[in-house]
Amino acid sequence: MTDTALRNTDIDAVLAEAKEAYIRRNPKSLARFVEATAVMPGGNTRTVLHYDPFPVAMVKGEGCRLWDADGAEYVDFLGEYTAGLYGHSHPVIRAAVDRVLDAGIGFGASNLLEPKFARAVCQRFGLDRVRFTNSGTEANLMALATACAFTRRRGVMVFRGGYHGGVFSFAQGGSPINAPFDFVVAPYNDTDGTLALVEQHGPRIAAIILEPMQGGGGCIAAEPAFLQALREAATRIGALLILDEVMTSRLAPGGLQSLRGVKPDLTTFGKYIGGGMSFGAFGGRADIMDLFDPRRPDALPHAGTFNNNVLTMAAGLAGLTEVFTPEAALALNARGDSLRERLNTLCHVAGAPIQFTGIGSMLAVHTTLAPIRNSTDAAKGDAKLKELFFFDMLAQGVWLARRGMMSLSLPIGDAESDKLAGAVEEFLASRRSLFIQAAS
Ligand code: PLP
Repeated sequence: MTDTALRNTDIDAVLAEAKEAYIRRNPKSLARFVEATAVMPGGNTRTVLHYDPFPVAMVKGEGCRLWDADGAEYVDFLGEYTAGLYGHSHPVIRAAVDRVLDAGIGFGASNLLEPKFARAVCQRFGLDRVRFTNSGTEANLMALATACAFTRRRGVMVFRGGYHGGVFSFAQGGSPINAPFDFVVAPYNDTDGTLALVEQHGPRIAAIILEPMQGGGGCIAAEPAFLQALREAATRIGALLILDEVMTSRLAPGGLQSLRGVKPDLTTFGKYIGGGMSFGAFGGRADIMDLFDPRRPDALPHAGTFNNNVLTMAAGLAGLTEVFTPEAALALNARGDSLRERLNTLCHVAGAPIQFTGIGSMLAVHTTLAPIRNSTDAAKGDAKLKELFFFDMLAQGVWLARRGMMSLSLPIGDAESDKLAGAVEEFLASRRSLFIQAAS
């Protein structure tokens, strides 16, 4: 047998054993899964949460801890894919939600909270005007539709590996259920390749949209020069630059754009800004956003029964102004930076083909040591090793995304960081023989 074949046999056996132990530990989650498959395709209503053999069902969260249906406790290092920044039932958010529940919800009318929340979001992220939606997907849908209306063009430049919602998935370059915009898919972090496409398609491009760090794609940051080149290209061809900061707005007090010094025409938001409630928003330049001013005879419509729902308005306002202050943002991201450095040092010392990418409070594990600048680089990682990492983390009480993404929430402290570092150290020690063969 060759070294590679030997290693594959070993990892297959180890992975099978890890999954069998997982099945034995989670009988109630398995029963829930079987029950759910009768009425939901694959027992699922949110694709990212499915993994083989069946997903764990959680029943309780408190601070940065989770408990599954079979009673196991985890430190929550996923943080609801960045939406759970405040942790579970933060007292300030809880009090804000309780107050609005006492006064009733769903007025079918404007309320006093929405301008306050809008002001907080505009001030924090440097927007002239903002409008609220119910999800990040919807925010991007509205921002792109706005760009098309504003420029009277139909083309949208997106990036391979990008994700802007369920109907804007470019992980594999596209998806059969993507919204029917006229997409041009460009290579992320490849300035020359992208500018060539800009030259070719320029006159029909309404918007260039990207995540300043691809989140779902594996925490892959856009290089500052690449972002700058896109800013200039958009201006040159008369297209709007839209930064999707649905995940990355948490990475600095004014979002990742403030760290990079790039000012987009529109920005989209979601996740934690709603304080844990359903949330999305799009905003930016007044001359663009004012197309929605309903006092105008030619106003564009923007509807949504729950756009100004008081639960989101109250939770979001309390969170952004009382809890996730600019100082709290700096501290959380500093914690994330030092944790990621610590994990990378552990992997380096162990000689493991593993690295953690990301910025501040967002990180993702990759099972390759090659530099990762785009989704093609990320795809070179060893998929089985990544799967084993996931199941080994669960077995040690660390909750993370199956694809290896993590995000820190505010309640995570030194003890929790130590717990993750300890779990990674244990993984590196117990699976050492797999790395040695991989490297030989
Ligand atoms: N944009 C980015 C960068 C995201 O990561 C996501 C969700 O993960 C979305 C948009 C879609 O947000 P939502 O799930 O709220 O529709």
